[in-house]
Amino acid sequence: MGDRSVTTTEAERGALGSSWATAASAVHWDIRPFIDGSLVASSSDETYPNVNPATEAPLCDVGVGAAADVDAAVNVAKRRFNEGVWSGLSAGRRAEILRTLGDLIAERREELALLDCLEMGKPITAALADAEMARSLLRNWADCAERLLGESVPLTPGALGFNCYQPRGVVGAITAWNFPVVNVIYKIAPALAAGNTVVLKPSEIAPSSSLKLAELAVEAGVPAGVLNVVPGVGKTVGEALAHHPDIDFLSFTGSTVTGRHVMQLAGANGTPVLLECGGKSPHVVFDDADDLEAIAEAVVAGVLVNQGQVCTAHTRLLVQAGIKDELVQEVVKRAREYRPGDPLDEATTFGPLASSEQRDRVSRYMTAGIDAGAELLLEGTVQDSGGCYVTPTIFGGVDQSMSIVQEEIFGPVLCVQSFTSESEAIDLANGTSYGLTSTVWTRDLARARRLACAVKSAHVVVRTSGAEEWCNYRILSYEPSKASGFGSEIGVRGLQSYSTLKAVYLFGA
Ligand code: NDP
Repeated sequence: MGDRSVTTTEAERGALGSSWATAASAVHWDIRPFIDGSLVASSSDETYPNVNPATEAPLCDVGVGAAADVDAAVNVAKRRFNEGVWSGLSAGRRAEILRTLGDLIAERREELALLDCLEMGKPITAALADAEMARSLLRNWADCAERLLGESVPLTPGALGFNCYQPRGVVGAITAWNFPVVNVIYKIAPALAAGNTVVLKPSEIAPSSSLKLAELAVEAGVPAGVLNVVPGVGKTVGEALAHHPDIDFLSFTGSTVTGRHVMQLAGANGTPVLLECGGKSPHVVFDDADDLEAIAEAVVAGVLVNQGQVCTAHTRLLVQAGIKDELVQEVVKRAREYRPGDPLDEATTFGPLASSEQRDRVSRYMTAGIDAGAELLLEGTVQDSGGCYVTPTIFGGVDQSMSIVQEEIFGPVLCVQSFTSESEAIDLANGTSYGLTSTVWTRDLARARRLACAVKSAHVVVRTSGAEEWCNYRILSYEPSKASGFGSEIGVRGLQSYSTLKAVYLFGA
C-alpha cells in the first residue's frame, strides 16, 4: 500500500504512515468556500458536525454556509465568464486542460478516496474505483468538447447559414453524497467542456473531495474563478444557488422531492433546469434466461453495491413464476454473504450507510414492509449506534401498492414480485413513478425488442448472460423519465444541455 495522504503539501504527505487508518488520522480538514481559486472564510459562523458514519464520531465542524457566500461565488463566476478566461479558449484547449485534470485525479486518487471513505463510509477500494471512473468520465467529456457540431443550411452562393453552440454562462450545480467525486464530475465536466463557469454546492455529508477537485482543477490550468465550490447545507447554500438571478442554468442531482423544489426556485427567475433524481429500477427475469447463478449474482450486486445507495440500484426483482423459487434461493444465499466491514479495510466490500439519517430512513422502510404484511425472505439488522450499519433485507409477498415497492429506499432492501405473462411483467416494471433504468433477462430477441420499447426508463439493458460492459452507460446519452428527472448530461448531448443553440446567417457580398 502506498502513501495515503489527504493533505495538500509534500511535507505533510511524506509524514504519513503506511496504512489507511494512519492516513485517516492525519487528514487536515479545511472545509470552506473555494472562490476565485482559493479557500476563503464563510460569511456565517454557524456550523454542523461532519460525522464518520463508520463510527459516528465527528471528523470536524463544517460551516452551514450563507447566501452571501453563494453571492460572492456567483459574482466571480459571472465576471470570469464575461472576461472570457475560459469560454474564450478553443474547445481543444479546454479539452486538454480537462484531460490534465483527469490525470491529476488519477495521481491523487488516494487523497480523494480517503475523504469520501471517511465522510460517507464508502469502502476504500470502491472509493478508489470512483476516482478512476472520474478520470475516465472526464476524458469522455473532454473528447466531446471538440464534437459539439452544428448544422448548416443551403442558401444562395456566398451566403451562409449555420448553427453554433455557445456556453450558457454561469452553471449552478447541486449534488448528492452517494458518489461524491463522480456526481461532481457528472456536473462540472460537461459544464466546463462546453465553456461555462460553475458554482457547485456539494452534499453537506461529503463536501471535502469537491474542494480537492476544485484545487486540482486550478492546478490543471482551469483559471481561478471558473470553478467555485460553496459547501454548506441545502436550506441555505442550495436554496440561495437555486434562486440566484445570475445563474444561467441549474443542474441538480438528488432526490425527486428536492429536485422539484429547486426547480420551483429556479423557475421564479426563468432559469432552465436539469434534474437527475431517484429511481426504483427493476430486474425483469423471464424463464427462458438459463444462467440463474449469473442472474442471482447480478441481482445481488445491483441492489447492494454502495450499500444500495445508488440512483440506478435495482431494488425490485420481477421474476417469472416458474423460476421464482430457484432464483430467490440463489439471491438470498448470496445476499446473506454480504457482511459489513470497516471501510478503511481494503478487504471490505460493504460499508455502513452514509449517515444516521439514512440508517433511520432505511430502518423505517424495513418496519413499513413488515407492517404492510410483506414476507421477510432475508431479515436485515440495523446497528443503532457506533456505526450506521444495515445488512441486506429481502422482501417477498409484496404488492404494487406497498411503500417498499413504490418509494426509493436508498439502502440494501430488495422486493421480489413474480409474474406469469410478458404484459404483466411490463405493467409491474412500469408500475412506479420512476423511470431511470431497467434490466431484462431473456434469450428471446423478439421479446427483448418489445421490452426495450415498452419499459419506460432512461436505460433498458437486455442481458442473456453474466457478461456486461459498464462503459456503454457513459458513452450513449440518455434522459431520465417520469419522476427520475429530465435532461441529458452524457456525451455530446450532455454538452448541448449546457449550451445555447444559435442560428447565424451571413448575407451580402
Ligand atoms: P437530496 O435531494 O436530499 O439532496 C441533494 C442535494 O440537494 C444536496 O446537495 C442537498 O444539500 C441539496 N438540497 C437539499 N435541500 C435543498 C433545498 N431546499 N434547496 C436546494 N438544495 C437542497 O438527496 P441526497 O443527497 O439524499 O441524495 C440521494 C438522492 O440522490 C437519491 O434520491 C438518489 O436517487 C439521487 N441521485 C440521483 C442520481 C442520478 O443521476 N439520477 C445520482 C445520484 C443520486 P444537503 O446535502 O445539505 O442536504
